[in-house]
Amino acid sequence: MMVVMQEGATDEQVEHVVARLEEVGVQAHVSRGERVTVIGAIGDREEITALPLEALPGVARVVAILKPYKLVSREFKASDTVIDVRGVKVGGGHFAIMAGPCSVETEEQVLAAARTVKQAGGSMLRGGAFKPRTSPYAFQGLGEDGLKLLAAAREKTGLPIVTELMDPRDLDVVLAYADVVQIGARNMQNFLLLAEVGRIDKPVLLKRGLAATIEEWLMAAEYVVKEGNREVILCERGIRTFETATRNTLDISAVPVVKQISHLPVVVDPSHATGRPDLVLPLSLSAVAAGADGVIVETHPNPEHALCDGPQSLSPEAFVEFAGRVRDLVAWVGKTVS
Ligand code: PEP
Ligand code: MN
Repeated sequence: MMVVMQEGATDEQVEHVVARLEEVGVQAHVSRGERVTVIGAIGDREEITALPLEALPGVARVVAILKPYKLVSREFKASDTVIDVRGVKVGGGHFAIMAGPCSVETEEQVLAAARTVKQAGGSMLRGGAFKPRTSPYAFQGLGEDGLKLLAAAREKTGLPIVTELMDPRDLDVVLAYADVVQIGARNMQNFLLLAEVGRIDKPVLLKRGLAATIEEWLMAAEYVVKEGNREVILCERGIRTFETATRNTLDISAVPVVKQISHLPVVVDPSHATGRPDLVLPLSLSAVAAGADGVIVETHPNPEHALCDGPQSLSPEAFVEFAGRVRDLVAWVGKTVS
């Protein structure tokens, strides 16, 4: 349920509603809009309807949120969520170009990638230190050593870091270095992990599962937001279909669909969606045109020698060209690259 306050309702009135909800064990999530404040009441429906909410001072009306996801829905919050990562904004007209290698390999490699991203006007550096590999025999990432290399690259370039967390036991170590915590496609429905990152105070990049519907993806985001962390960036990274020409099938329609029904920012990962470097630019341009709030792509100083996902990574030269073309279209649609 959603308690919509009157325009001009006071802080005391909002706090009073929150207190009445919490008294009966109902969670209250306050969303302050430009004109009205809305309180999402999450809990036992009977407990909520038994309360005289509409009679409380400052309350305009009480309405049901019809969608199964509540706090991430546009019904609950009409305005776009804008996430600020060390001054780099994502959402609400701010477009982020996140890029870097699939996995962190060496100091030289990650620094070279970071410099390319920075020089080309990218917004954030991506790189995996804990890698979810299909084969247990494939390179699994450098762990904390990799995180340290990312932090060193941030130090030199100023780019915030996006990196994956796979296991709740690594939460503290990842939090010590990451600016955005990525939850990979394979963990999209790892509900305990989602609840764990719901209690941190850093943004979460939530990738769509390989076979997840949009509703399941938004329910996964709800797991995070329900715990208190409102900073979720959704990432469409391709889904499994019968098509074999590309690694996965980029569901570009997910972008405008999700933007209609959720206030969370949506970014697109054309690298994992296609597995093909030649498709990264055209699909990134489609993402911009479809209304995405950013892209996350793989680039490596020497793709041929990459330990992970080399074939889909852009070379430094290709990335510079890529970033320029994306920036031009972002400007053309009236957004700014952060
Ligand atoms: C990645 O970003 O490196 C990755 C493994 O992505 P996904 O979870 O989308 O496969
Ligand atoms: Mn990868």
